[in-house]
Amino acid sequence: MKLESYVGGQWRAGDGHARAFINPTTGEALGEVVDGGFDIAEALNFAREKGTTALSSMSFAERGNLLRGIADVLTANREKYGEIARLNSGNTAGDAAIDIDGGIATLKVYARYGKTLGDAHALMEPGQDQLAKEPVFFARHVWTTRPGVALQINAFNFPSWGLWEKVSTALLSGVASVAKPASATAWLSHEMVRDVIAADILPAGALSLVCGSGAGLADHLGAMDSLAFTGSADTGLKLRSGERLLESGARVTIEADSVNATILGPDAAPGTAVFDLAVREAVKALTVKAGQLCTNIRRILVPAQHRAAFEEAVAAKLDQIVVGDPALETVRMGPLVDLKQRDAALRGIEALKSEASVIRGGDIGQAEGADAQKGAFLLPTLLRCDDPGGARIVHETEVFGPCATVMAYEHADDAVRLAAKGGGSLAVSLFSDDVAVQAQMVAGLAPWHGRLLVIDEMVWKNHTGHSIVMPQCVHGGPGRAGGGEELGGLRGLRFHMQRSAIQGSPGLFEALQSDAVEANL
Ligand code: NAP
Repeated sequence: MKLESYVGGQWRAGDGHARAFINPTTGEALGEVVDGGFDIAEALNFAREKGTTALSSMSFAERGNLLRGIADVLTANREKYGEIARLNSGNTAGDAAIDIDGGIATLKVYARYGKTLGDAHALMEPGQDQLAKEPVFFARHVWTTRPGVALQINAFNFPSWGLWEKVSTALLSGVASVAKPASATAWLSHEMVRDVIAADILPAGALSLVCGSGAGLADHLGAMDSLAFTGSADTGLKLRSGERLLESGARVTIEADSVNATILGPDAAPGTAVFDLAVREAVKALTVKAGQLCTNIRRILVPAQHRAAFEEAVAAKLDQIVVGDPALETVRMGPLVDLKQRDAALRGIEALKSEASVIRGGDIGQAEGADAQKGAFLLPTLLRCDDPGGARIVHETEVFGPCATVMAYEHADDAVRLAAKGGGSLAVSLFSDDVAVQAQMVAGLAPWHGRLLVIDEMVWKNHTGHSIVMPQCVHGGPGRAGGGEELGGLRGLRFHMQRSAIQGSPGLFEALQSDAVEANL
C-alpha cells in the first residue's frame, strides 16, 4: 500500500523518498508514504482559486451543510476507521473513539454553528461606536473571509480529530484546506479523505491532502493564507521562523508540546470523592492512547500530607492494567505509535530519572498477545520527584507516552507556582470541593494555561476529562505550548477571517447587515 496525495483535484502518487508506516503491535510494515509527486505552488493555488472561491460564495448555513455531509460520510464508514486506528496507531476501541468520534463530533458542532449563522457571508460584532459629535459617523467591526488557503500540518497522535478540527473552522469560514497528516499515521487521514472525496459533496479544491514530507509547503504561502501547525516544539520553531513564511505575512498558529499538570486541591483528602476522581484521571493519563495526547497530564501536584496515599492508590490501579495487543478485550493499553516514539519516550524517562525515582513502570515490560520487543510497548510509568521546587527537567520534559511524575506541595500558592514552571501549558486540572480555593487557584493558574478543568463533587459525573478538547472551548496554550489558539466555538473562525473596522454612516451599516449576521467573536 502506497498512500497518495489529493491535490489539484486529483490523486497523485509520490515520486520521491518513501517512508514505511507500521503496525506498532507487531512491528510489521503496513505500507509507505512517498514524498512529492506534485507542484506545491500549483496545489495551493488550486485550493485558493477553486476551493476558497467556491466556499466563500456559499453562506454559513450552506458550509455547515457540507460539514454535516462530511460527518455523515465518516459515520457511514466508522467501522473501517476503527480497524485502521487499531492496526496503524495501536489504538484500543476506546482510544480510537477519542480520535475518530471526536473528529466527527467536532464536524457536527461546527455544522450546527453554520446553521445558526444562516444565510449570511460575513460576521458583524454587536454594538457600534460613535466617532463624531454628530450622530452620523460610526464604526463597526466586521469579519470577512480571507481569500487564501489554510495549510494544516498535523501530529501523528490524532490522524482523525486533528484533521477535522482544523477543517471544521476553515471550511465554515469559507476557506479551503490543504491538510498534511503526520507520516506515521497518515493512513487513517488518507482513507477518510478518500471517502469524502468519493462522496462528491465538496466543491473542487475545498479539501486537499498531502501525504509525504511537508518540507517546503509553508514556503509558498501568501498574505491571505494561514498555517496551523500541531506537533513538536522543535518542528514548530523551524516552521514559524522560516524566512519565506515570515516575509509572506501569512497567519501562523502553533500547537506544540506541553508539560501539563493536574492538581489535587489542599482539601482533597483520601476518602473524598475528589481524591478518587483525581486518581481515576491520573490512571487515564497513564493508559489512554498510551499517553500520547498533547493535553495529557505529565505532572501530578499533590498536598504533601496526601502524597503517599495518592501514589499508592494510583499504583494499585496501574498494577491491574494489561498492556498488549489492542485487539484483545482484556487489554487496556496498546503500544505507542512506533519504535521511534517508544525510544524517545524511554530516553525522556531516563532524563526524568535524574530528578525523579520510578514508582511503577519505566521500561518495556510484557505485552499480552504480542512480542514486547518487536512492538512499541511501554509500561505505564509513574515517577516521584522529591524536590519539585528545585527541579527543572521534570517541568520541561514532555515524555510523549504513558508517563507522569508526582510532586508534593505545601500550600496552594506553591502548587500554582509549580504548575507555571511548565512554561505555559495547554491544560491544567484542579480537583477541589472548596469553591474559594478553586477561585483563588484559578486566578493564579489562568495566565499560564489555555484551558482549566475544575472538578468538584457537583460536576463529577458530567465532566469531560482533563485531556479531552471540546470544540466549544479554545484549544492552545501560552509560551511553551506554542501560543496558539484553535476551536473555541465561533472564536475558531477568527483565524480564517479578517476583522476590519468599518467607519461610515448608519446607511452603510444597514446595507452591510443584509449579508452579515451579528456574532460576538
Ligand atoms: P513532529 O515530528 O513535530 O511532526 C508534526 C508534523 O510536522 C508532521 O506532520 C510532520 O510530518 C511535519 N513536519 C516535520 N518536519 C516538517 C517540516 N520541515 N516542514 C513541514 N512539516 C514538517 O511531531 P509529531 O511527532 O508528529 O507529534 C508529537 C508532538 O506533537 C508531541 O510533542 C505533542 O505534544 C505534540 N502535539 C501537540 C498537540 C497540540 O494540539 N498542542 C496535539 C498533538 C500533538 P512527518 O510526519 O511526515 O515528518
